[in-house]
Parts: sequence; structure tokens; C-alpha cells
Amino acid sequence: MAQRRFFVGGNWKMNGNKESLEELMSTLNTASLHEDTEVVCAAPSIYLDFARSGLDSRISVAAQNCYKVAKGAFTGEISPAMIKDCGADWVILGHSERRHVFGENDELIGQKVAHALESDLGVIACIGEKLEEREAGTTEEVIFAQTQVIAAILTLLCLHHCPAFQSKLSGRIMFLFPSFTVVHKNVMDWEKVVLAYEPVWAIGTGKTATPEQAQEVHERLRAWFRANISEEVSDSLRIIYGGSVTAANCSELASQTDVDGFLVGGASLKPEFIDIINARA
Ligand code: PGA
Repeated sequence: MAQRRFFVGGNWKMNGNKESLEELMSTLNTASLHEDTEVVCAAPSIYLDFARSGLDSRISVAAQNCYKVAKGAFTGEISPAMIKDCGADWVILGHSERRHVFGENDELIGQKVAHALESDLGVIACIGEKLEEREAGTTEEVIFAQTQVIAAILTLLCLHHCPAFQSKLSGRIMFLFPSFTVVHKNVMDWEKVVLAYEPVWAIGTGKTATPEQAQEVHERLRAWFRANISEEVSDSLRIIYGGSVTAANCSELASQTDVDGFLVGGASLKPEFIDIINARA
């Protein structure tokens, strides 16, 4: 079975200013961080440069969103190329606040994931059910459908880079993806993806999923990958949990077999983020 490196992302969302972020970054820079844990901080886009120059090299920087094309007349948007130009290596896509506050649908999220991966950015792809969906017993249906969109994108990216495919089809692959159902089996394609399971009812509410609830969903997701992609991808893909993770609840969550890290909102702005990074003993 593959060793999955523990991954902890801090999502600063639209919080902080240069003074408070500087203080946070210096706390992180002087902390003892578990070497085996991959740490990424997602800064507001206007602070990407600031975060990259303020954080030490143990910590990677992520953007919290990006657009689906490289450049053009898209006022207010940023591209993966710009994110990379600021020295950041990751982007969060499909976050529930993007889906539910800003109305992003699966198709747009898929297009963004495709372009970010094509641009060689790592993607923290977020999925998760709303409270009413959990209560209606449709959690799996919802998260599998969200996951399938990302799987279809990876398939297309693979085909897109295959010469036979290129010679037959022109135009952007994104026009095609809704009709594709086959999924690619190559583990390489999934290396730049971290899947974040974030139940919407647990985000910013103080209502964390219990370790058993998180493990149950992560295990089912892993089984989905085994059945629909491959054993290899199922074993190696990092599936992280997000939703009211704190220093107090992180150790028990981290001890679950299929929880490979966290995406942390509120607590990533506080010194307790260090305890969360170090949650896996
Ligand atoms: P939270 O946010 O930790 O404040 O619940 C998590 C997230 O939105 O990624």
C-alpha cells in the first residue's frame, strides 16, 4: 500500500491584513513543523507575493481560486500562470463558498481544474454535501458526482496529450468533457490532485464531522476510486478533511486510516494551526 504524505492546507479566505499575516507567518516560520507533513497556505490573491516572500520554504503557497483560461478580458480574475508567477504551486478549486456563495457549478469547476492542471499547478479539489443532502441520505450520490467531474477532466487531459487524440480533434477539450464517461487509470495524472472532503454543514460552523463520520466518507471515496479508477490511484490519492478542524479535534481525526490531512479555515489564522500541522504523531 502506498505511503500517503500527510497534507495540511490553511485557507485564510478573505481574512487578515499585511500586519496580522506577517505575525502569523513569523509564528509559522519559527515553529517546529513535522517534516513528513506537506504544508500549504492559501492566501487572498492580492497577498500571494507577500505570502510567498513571507513564508519559509517549508511552506508552499496556494491561491484560493483561479479562472479557466490563461489570459484575456476577464476583469477581476486571476490565471494559473499568474499564480505560478507569484511563486505559488497550488490552487483551491470547488470550495463550497465558491459553489454556494458565488454560484460556481460542476462544469465551471471542471474547466478550472482542467486549466490549472494543464498549467502544472497542484489542485486542492473540494467536494462535500450540504446538510439537507446528508439528512436526505444522498451524501454519497452528491460527492461521487462531484468527484466524477474531476475524474472525467483527468481522462480528457490524458487523451488531450495523446497524439492520436490531438490529430482527430481540435479546439479546447473543455467543450467535450460532459460527454465523457471513461476514466483514465494512470496514477501520474492524480499526483497533482488532493481531494478535500468538506461537508458544507461543518464549514465555519464549529460542527466538526466526528472521526467516524469523516472516516466513513473517506473510505467510501477510496472505494469509489478503486472501483472506477484504479487500485493504485485509490491507494495513493490524498483525501483530506475540512470543516471546523481545530487543535482540539485534529489528533483523533488524523488517526483515521483514510484521513490524509486537513483543509483548515478559521484555525489556520491562529497559532493552533501548528498543532494541526503536527497532528499526525
Ligand atoms: P473552517 O473552514 O475550518 O473554518 O470550518 C474550512 C474550509 O472552508 O476549508
